[in-house]
Amino acid sequence: MAKFVYDFTEGNKDLKDLLGGKGANLAEMTNLGLPVPPGFTITTEACRHYLEHGGFPDGLEDEVDRHLAELERTMGKRLGQSDDPLLVSVRSGAKFSMPGMMETVLNVGLNDESVHGLAAQAGDERFAWDSYRRLVQMFGGTVLGIDGELFEDAVEDAKKARGTKDDVDLTAEDFKDLVERFKGIVREQAGREFPTDPREQMDLAVRAVFDSWNADRAILYRRQERIPVDLGTAVNICSMVFGNLGMDSGTGVAFTRDPASGQQGIYGDYLQNAQGEDVVAGIRNTVPLTELERLDRTSYDQLLQIMEKLENHYLDMCDIEFTIERGKLWMLQTRVGKRTAAAAFRIACQLLDQGLIDADEAARRVKGDQLAQLMFPRFTSTIDGITKLTRGMNASPGAAVGKVVFTSERAVELAERGEDVILVRRETNPDDLAGMMAAQGVLTSRGGKTSHAAVVARGMGKTCVCGAEELDVDVKAGRVTAPDGTTVTEGDVISIDGSSGDVFLGEVPVEDSPVVRYFEGGLTAADGDDLVKAVDRLMRHADERAALAVRANADNPEDSARARRFGARGIGLCRTEHMFLGDRRRLVETLILAEDDAGRRAALDDLEPLQRSDFEGIFEAMDGQPVTIRLIDPPLHEFLPDLTELSVKVALAGDGADPRDRSLLEAVNRLHEQNPMLGLRGVRLGLVIPGLFGMQVRAIAEAAAARRAAGGDPRPEIMIPLVGAVQELEAVRDEAREILAAVAAETGVDVPALIGTMIELPRAALTAGQIAEAAEFFSFGTNDLTQTTWGFSRDDVEAAFFSRYLELGIFGVSPFETLDRDGVGRLVRIAAQEGRRARPGLKLGICGEHGGDPDSVHFCHEVGLDYVSCSPFRVPVARLEAGRAAI
Ligand code: PEP
Ligand code: MG
Repeated sequence: MAKFVYDFTEGNKDLKDLLGGKGANLAEMTNLGLPVPPGFTITTEACRHYLEHGGFPDGLEDEVDRHLAELERTMGKRLGQSDDPLLVSVRSGAKFSMPGMMETVLNVGLNDESVHGLAAQAGDERFAWDSYRRLVQMFGGTVLGIDGELFEDAVEDAKKARGTKDDVDLTAEDFKDLVERFKGIVREQAGREFPTDPREQMDLAVRAVFDSWNADRAILYRRQERIPVDLGTAVNICSMVFGNLGMDSGTGVAFTRDPASGQQGIYGDYLQNAQGEDVVAGIRNTVPLTELERLDRTSYDQLLQIMEKLENHYLDMCDIEFTIERGKLWMLQTRVGKRTAAAAFRIACQLLDQGLIDADEAARRVKGDQLAQLMFPRFTSTIDGITKLTRGMNASPGAAVGKVVFTSERAVELAERGEDVILVRRETNPDDLAGMMAAQGVLTSRGGKTSHAAVVARGMGKTCVCGAEELDVDVKAGRVTAPDGTTVTEGDVISIDGSSGDVFLGEVPVEDSPVVRYFEGGLTAADGDDLVKAVDRLMRHADERAALAVRANADNPEDSARARRFGARGIGLCRTEHMFLGDRRRLVETLILAEDDAGRRAALDDLEPLQRSDFEGIFEAMDGQPVTIRLIDPPLHEFLPDLTELSVKVALAGDGADPRDRSLLEAVNRLHEQNPMLGLRGVRLGLVIPGLFGMQVRAIAEAAAARRAAGGDPRPEIMIPLVGAVQELEAVRDEAREILAAVAAETGVDVPALIGTMIELPRAALTAGQIAEAAEFFSFGTNDLTQTTWGFSRDDVEAAFFSRYLELGIFGVSPFETLDRDGVGRLVRIAAQEGRRARPGLKLGICGEHGGDPDSVHFCHEVGLDYVSCSPFRVPVARLEAGRAAI
């Protein structure tokens, strides 16, 4: 029979799937001999059963009974015992950390009797009643779903009656009254009494934690973080220790290194005489952890020792939560800490230097998405004439500019209209998640680097400045006031710098990041700071390890040159239709309107020299590297004016309409298709419009010959799009070969050119063995292959219904973003295998958008492709991931 409950002494850090991150790490710390309050963990498997069947699995309750009895024995007191109660916390803990997204209930076990026992044991009446009212409040909100504001308002009333603004001034009597009021709220709102049976409290709290897996904010967070929907959460039942037993008690969070910069040192926040979530929630202002040295030297020294032990054990930066109860230190949580992108690179190299990890492991510790973040622009250093409002804490780096909004709803609303916004709050809570996602950046006036806003923003890679205490944020009035009296209201533009913590009024200009300057070659690793050095070091290692080459999708010399500077080893996709836009559109129109062969020929003759010079430029920029040129792909109507606009224009002009407009309108109507994506495009166009592909092949051959004559080393690869049958390819290939031979004869320069095809239709993938007979290379066009495999119109579905699909968990991420391994990926595998079987050594690449997506790069490595091709700016990301995939 399945085991659903593990004592902390039974688990270990590798059991995260089963025990969740928190449970697995509590067990690990217990087994390391660290001071962890005893407790046990109910598995994610039990949660999954509960969510699926709506009830606890058979045997769970018995197991909980046994573990609770064991815990009671260890602690020498029973849950809720009236003269000396064992109290427990009931906390969620999924495999992946979801800060603040799910539920926690503290002080379970208190009731009208045991509150007296607690008071007697603690020798503190006020503390006991405060703990009790916290239980009713948390239980009411979390388990019974009562609006938290009702409780908050009652606390406010009590403070008003006492003539104070601070909880600290409330007395035992006040809390006693609050307990009664809270119970009244429960009665009114939930239609039931607050349960006084300790075991019932615990069971209901466990259910609430399980249920919180499917809370809206948790669903939203998982989608953002791409956490699978079906993992479920574990529940940790832990004996309570109290940080609110007086000034010799407190609670705090700490990092073994700075999560923003990666520097070693003492980082964290501490709050004296406080319980539980007070620090993370950022509700009261904390003191820096270094203050603890002064307040409680013994606990401080012990904490530092534990932090060092944890780093050396986990071989990584850890974050921890701890509580001090009357001078005794307790560890409540640890995990490998979330960090900013810059810190990830720095920390990996620091650990490498310390000899704690090797270079492969260092490369594993950084991700392509983090590198992408480091390539975002930042504010210029010259900010003359711009008002600095204040400086807060640099919680999550980046340069964000946008209009001030004060609520999550407003952030979402304006962002949907395409506006950039900065969400400004006193502090954020999990309900602000949608607004944080919609905003360019987040600014709070309260809370430290470990506050909700900071932790969540860092996880999202979103710019965040927190704890800007000098700002007076009045959300109700929709106003922020700076220390110099400047007021900012909704809609005013501000700029926030998550790297320095600076907040500016107005828009600060941005500049390239040093990492981009490094890739561009303008900044050498030797001249760069430690971040640039770390990036350089890990990129070199990734390049050494990578089996996949990285090419770029580029269709002009500038992009090609940039891609090359960024480390591209060739071009994997040059979309020639991009060369037919702008002024050249008219030439394409003439081609389409041509009434006979002579007219068509003339139009093609006009286009050919333009194409030739385009290709010459690209060959020059990519000298010595392969350049895959894809012959024109989209349906021709895309080059003609819009049907409705043109119809109106012709109709309005009546008899006086321009004859060219009339012909154009006729052509637009003739070429109109219900499903252009599945219509006359790609190779079909080449077979239907005589001379079109031929013109392009000639331009390629002549450009290559000219480059060769000029001493260059052009390496053209000609790619035929949207092939579904080998016969289509054969026809085009034969014509192309003839033209290549003719140009070689005319110019006296023979530049070899590979002729290959895109694999972007399921039929092409399934008949890849036949197609390979006629193709010297395949490039997977996974944009179209995804479109045609799923039957999803790539231009429509993301806006139309993907958000619903994501919500329903039909997929965790859009298949246009990350390659669908099971379906589209299966076709890629089949085509790769059958293609290579027919033609050993067949060159294989990918040029759909997936070529720059980290997970898809790993897939391409697994399938054994030769290269991935992506936009120039993604090239470093793909290089890093290609290396990581090979480790
Ligand atoms: C593709 O379909 O994946 C591809 C690269 O071609 P395009 O996006 O131009 O259709
Ligand atoms: Mg395509």
